[in-house]
This record gives sequence, C-alpha cells and structure tokens, in this order.
Amino acid sequence: MLGLFSSSFYGKGDVVLKISGPLLDHPVQSSIQIGPNKHVDVDTPAKFINHSCKPNTKVEGEQIVAINTILPGEEITFDYQGNEYDLAVSFICRDCGQWVKGMKYKGENVCLQAFEQKIMETQ
Ligand SMILES: [Zn+2]
Repeated sequence: MLGLFSSSFYGKGDVVLKISGPLLDHPVQSSIQIGPNKHVDVDTPAKFINHSCKPNTKVEGEQIVAINTILPGEEITFDYQGNEYDLAVSFICRDCGQWVKGMKYKGENVCLQAFEQKIMETQ
C-alpha cells in the first residue's frame, strides 16, 4: 500500500508540507478539501497521504500540520472523514473498518464520530 512516510522529526504545530495542485470546485479521488467548494487536486507527495482515524496531521488552510510528534519513518496520515465534506470515492478505514465518506455523512455509522467542526459544514 502506498503511503507517505516522514523523513524528519516534527513537533506539534509544525508544517509537514504545503498542499499544491490545481484548484477544483468539486472533489476528485486525489483531492484534498481546503474550504467550501475548494478542492486541491494534489500532486506528489501529498497524494500519497492515507486516511487514519488516529491521524498525526490535519489540514489547515493549504498546509498539512502535525497534531502530535512525528518521528522519522512514521507514516503521515490525516482524518479524511473530518476534513472532506463528501468524498469522490468512499472507502473502508483500515484502522476501524468503518466507511469513510465525508462530513456530509456525520451521524451515520462511519469512521470516527468525533468530527471537527470545520468550515466545510457550511457547504
Ligand atoms: Zn477509522
């Protein structure tokens, strides 16, 4: 399975990488949502970041920011379910076995019930 692995040490709050790529008004399989109707079709290496419901980063504006300490060799993950409003392609979370579909499906039986209250909710 492809994934993005850290080559450095990051502390909480450190910027792990910047999100870059074409800006779209709809999600695609390789996009990351950065605001209402704002989806960046990310290029390498961000497109290799896997979902986790126990993530070590979060999307903050156009940056991927560490939410706890990340050691060299550790996989970089963020919570797709709490970041994306409605994923182009749903999938099963490898950590909990529940569906990852996006914040639109809050309250349904999906991965990670602890959604962050983000701007995407206004979409
Ligand atoms: Zn999960």
